[in-house]
Amino acid sequence: MIAFPLEQVRLTQSRWQENMQRDSAWVCSITSQQALHNFRTMVGLYSAKEGGYDTFTKMGGWESPDCDLRGHAVGHLLSSYALFYAATGDSLFYLKGDSVVQGIRSCQRVNGTGYVSAFPEGLIDRNIAGQSVWAPWYTLHKVMAGMLAQYTYCHNDTALAVVQDFAQWAERKLKGLDDATRRRMLRNEFGGMPEVWLDLYRLTGDDKARWLTDFFYDNAKLDPLYEGNFDMGTMHTNTFLPKVVAETKKSSIYNLQSSMPEHFFHEMVCHHVMAPGILSDKEHFFPVGTMHKHLSAYTGETCCTYNMLRMARELYAQHPDIRYVQYMEQALVNDILGQQDPATGMVHYFLPMQTGAYKLYSTPMNSFWCCVGSSFESHAKYGENIYWHSGDTVWVNLWIPSVLNWEEKGLRLRQETAFPRSNTTTLIVEQAPKHKITLMVRKDSTYQTVTRRFKKGDRIAVQREYALRTMAADGDASRVALFYGPILLAGRLGQVAHPFSDPTKHNDYYTYNYQVPDSIKNVELKELQPVEGQFAEFITSDGIRVSPLYDIHHERYVVYWKK
Ligand SMILES: [Zn+2]
Repeated sequence: MIAFPLEQVRLTQSRWQENMQRDSAWVCSITSQQALHNFRTMVGLYSAKEGGYDTFTKMGGWESPDCDLRGHAVGHLLSSYALFYAATGDSLFYLKGDSVVQGIRSCQRVNGTGYVSAFPEGLIDRNIAGQSVWAPWYTLHKVMAGMLAQYTYCHNDTALAVVQDFAQWAERKLKGLDDATRRRMLRNEFGGMPEVWLDLYRLTGDDKARWLTDFFYDNAKLDPLYEGNFDMGTMHTNTFLPKVVAETKKSSIYNLQSSMPEHFFHEMVCHHVMAPGILSDKEHFFPVGTMHKHLSAYTGETCCTYNMLRMARELYAQHPDIRYVQYMEQALVNDILGQQDPATGMVHYFLPMQTGAYKLYSTPMNSFWCCVGSSFESHAKYGENIYWHSGDTVWVNLWIPSVLNWEEKGLRLRQETAFPRSNTTTLIVEQAPKHKITLMVRKDSTYQTVTRRFKKGDRIAVQREYALRTMAADGDASRVALFYGPILLAGRLGQVAHPFSDPTKHNDYYTYNYQVPDSIKNVELKELQPVEGQFAEFITSDGIRVSPLYDIHHERYVVYWKK
């Protein structure tokens, strides 16, 4: 099964497109001078008048000049510009990306070894020596993945050259290490580093890239999975997930036959995924069957959802099982779409499941958490999983207003829907292919199938039956989330004045005190009545307004009710 590339899909007016526009305004507000500052100062390149200390605002938070992770958000920016260029065709994004690529290439030339980063090589040395350091390979992965996105979507050859030279440096750096040192180095979070090497191998066939892929195989974490042991204990979730994403990609690139990634994914969905499609409590796994004890104010690091969506996409391409698409819809509608505050464009890190808590957002220039970085990509690529094809069949898997242009077959298809605020979608043939094709429009776990020689103007309307249903937290049948069809609902428990992280406090999203009033710590689920004329809006018999969770912002809420 092949996804239509972003270049062939254009979003049209909707909440999804508005999110894209807010995201693009944010990523474009960051200048290349700001993005390149740490890279330039690292190699002694001129940054600005008097070092720029009073001439422009530096990126703060996790991009601060003294944060080990500096550079990671710049990598996400490169990916974001590339995705936006593919998704819109607007050359502004090409130019934004190219200016950062060329700037980083200049820094790499000054270094002369192939190494390039916003932090010195000493952080890698600390990692190799087993000393304390915050995830240097994780950050380098983001930068190199951004370069590969620039090469893939913008055909930027300089970006590929950066990765190739970096691979040469990495091979020299790592070649002489013994296996015990390798395994110790891999205990530190390294994100999707093996994916970069895999992609480089796929693009260039370079043996060195294959060697590096194998070097970044984390035996301690992955061998048990291959042996069928999916007990993740309380490991750090977002350190773990990209390792499996890499194994999933490896299956197709190396043409391996392994069902491990599929098993892993279903294990996640059965035992670890909470109602909005999210994973983790305070960033960690919890023992199977104890979800009900982990409905905290720090659930669902959004990077985990981002990585689960990447895994679902890889798996669906290999094994077209509709359950992957159902997860995509669950997570996109109930977590990702609502990650962004429509009033400010800022994004949350956690999605609290604690009753009475609320979404706490980043700041534009002083957060740059991992979840800000992944959000730069998430809201740029809504178009990537809507339409898929195989032979003469087109699958319409997600209900997102858009136009598909399949030039090769002469098909232009427009999708019109108010989903998630509707249970219908309409497909309109704007240009018909000369021969017969099949359209498969997803309802829930089935498709409505139409095969014919379409004519211009043909319309196919699809409706889903929505009903209210509850889903219990794993481990406690009396803790339930409420769905209307695929849409997760939540009860509104009162506005909050200023739900934004305070950059003067160290990582306050992680320790933030939501000061939940005692009166709303537990909310019982009462009988519901629909609000007349308003789709997916209800009111409980004790007067609590119930709305889709993605649409609740600046407000306390309840997702898991007492039954
Ligand atoms: Zn994150």
